[in-house]
Amino acid sequence: MTKCNKNEIFSHELPTTPIDPETQAKRDAKIQVAMIGFCGCWGCTLSFLDMDEALIALLDKVNITRSSITDTKRIPGRMALGFIEGGIANSENIAVLEEYRENCDVLISVGACAIWGGVPAMRNVIPLEECFREAYIDSETAVPDAKKTIPFHEDIPTITTKVMPLHEVVKIDYFIPGCPPDGATILKVLDDLINGREFDLPSAMNRYD
Ligand code: SF4
Repeated sequence: MTKCNKNEIFSHELPTTPIDPETQAKRDAKIQVAMIGFCGCWGCTLSFLDMDEALIALLDKVNITRSSITDTKRIPGRMALGFIEGGIANSENIAVLEEYRENCDVLISVGACAIWGGVPAMRNVIPLEECFREAYIDSETAVPDAKKTIPFHEDIPTITTKVMPLHEVVKIDYFIPGCPPDGATILKVLDDLINGREFDLPSAMNRYD
């Protein structure tokens, strides 16, 4: 499996805005946190954003790096906590997840898709070739008379035959169930971990709606 090259620049990435050294040093001294999404619907990421102003109260301790809040494309270094939404559905997901495992002290699966595959794993009962055929050849939304083809290019990540939960690929330290878990639940986990308390999620905080 090809590892992500952190120095590689993709065309959609803009050069980083320079930060003055003092501000950077303050950020570096905090607990580094990242959140990314793989094969999911971004609902769990929205719950991360739903922490709203409660997150502001934690910002003296925490530096949010790669996430939907910052739009940073890569984790800039060693992370204390990595929150991950979504299951593993292609080769790029695997490479990025392995990079996270290597660079995060604690990894947390957030939501049903990350924990057991969730909705995307519904395709696991259908042969991959049939999925492709339905999506690209027999699709009712295909443009009439257009040449129908299943896209293939060496730069397109290879789709895995099954959607996998994260823990089937790397070791995961904690799990936050739900579809999605709500912001208060994620906040409790974040608050506990950055303040040195044990991960302790009461079942009353789990939600599956
Ligand atoms: Fe979306 Fe639910 Fe999967 Fe979260 S667990 S990514 S809310 S489908």
